[in-house]
Amino acid sequence: MSPQTNIAKPNYEENCCNCGQTPTVEIYNEKGILVHSLDMCGVCTWGESACLDPEEWN
Ligand SMILES: [Zn+2]
Repeated sequence: MSPQTNIAKPNYEENCCNCGQTPTVEIYNEKGILVHSLDMCGVCTWGESACLDPEEWN
């Protein structure tokens, strides 16, 4: 439900709270400000194995 101007960036400092993988997902707005820090990796956030790769997030 995020506006399309928001972008997801990988955080390699945190492990996924669900599966332990890195990176986890952080959501930034169009001004580059962190608006949402998720505790889960791309796969657990979006439920798709392709989302293991941060290149697939945006
Ligand atoms: Zn995960």
